[in-house]
Amino acid sequence: MGDTDIKFSPENLCKRCVLPEVKPMIFFDSHGVCNLCHEHDQNRELEEEAKLLESDLLKILKKHKAKGKYDVLAMCSGGKDSTSALYYMKTRYKLNPLAFMFDNGFESEDAIRNVERAAEKLGVDFMFFKSSYMKDMYGKILETKSKAVICHPCSLWYMDLAYEIADRHEIPLIIAGWTKGQSTNQKIMSKCGCNAASPEFKDMSEATRSFLDTYVRNDPRYKDFPASMEEVMKKAAERKTKALVISPHWFLPFGAEVYVPTIQKELGWEYPQLSYPGRSTNCMLNFISVYNSMKNYGYTHYHVEMSKLIRQNVISREDAIRDLEFQISKSQLNAIAKKLNYQYE
Ligand SMILES: [Zn+2]
Repeated sequence: MGDTDIKFSPENLCKRCVLPEVKPMIFFDSHGVCNLCHEHDQNRELEEEAKLLESDLLKILKKHKAKGKYDVLAMCSGGKDSTSALYYMKTRYKLNPLAFMFDNGFESEDAIRNVERAAEKLGVDFMFFKSSYMKDMYGKILETKSKAVICHPCSLWYMDLAYEIADRHEIPLIIAGWTKGQSTNQKIMSKCGCNAASPEFKDMSEATRSFLDTYVRNDPRYKDFPASMEEVMKKAAERKTKALVISPHWFLPFGAEVYVPTIQKELGWEYPQLSYPGRSTNCMLNFISVYNSMKNYGYTHYHVEMSKLIRQNVISREDAIRDLEFQISKSQLNAIAKKLNYQYE
């Protein structure tokens, strides 16, 4: 039997962003422009006012002085955004970061090498945490054909973990690599910075919540697993060190066009061979998560994030469409799924 190519190139996208029409939450006007683009236009003035400046970041850094050895815990994925966040903490703000990487068992060698290289070049300590704790939960999502988005419980897990590590080392700030298109709201963060309460995520978050309630809460191995990001935040607020989570990219006066060449030159950073979306650094399990989201919803959280970046004129719609093109062979997909004892037909 030959190898089938799986390809998703969504059609009928909003004329301005890259979201498909998914009623009732996402709907188009007679010109093919979605309600979220219109909402953005209406809120533009408010957003302009709320724009964060680098001076705001300096104030935050001054306010959150370290008690222990490390000034910040830098969550590293090996991608351009988190690697440059680590880079600027050390070089631009002269802080002592602890580089922290978590591996759910699906991290690529390329991503791990990027963090190792960055930590070594910067002369910062590097903590690598690998665990198979989540494996059965991921497997259960596939086995039960749940529409839960794999990245959601994963983000609950590592945000909780990041707070725990920060608390243990008395680190007052957690630094993530979220870009301007990702959430700046403290209450609703994840690694990808998705705002679970926004209309684009309603169906996805409900499916995840229902999966957690049905399969996770009753499993003794996961009895302490947080039910939502709100619960992660609540738990964090009860810890001794109340770490604040921010991304320098919300404040920096430049974007990827400046920091990507910088870390390539200074840290030997490289784009991973295989990752989705194009020019990103996400774990291999992300291919499964994206495949399921495209089948279940017709779009992914990356479409939401890139749509925000398009509306803010950070990226072009053409670039987003190119990077969002999903193509993988069935055998590649099943090679990843095999680790979870699952096979797609
Ligand atoms: Zn739109």
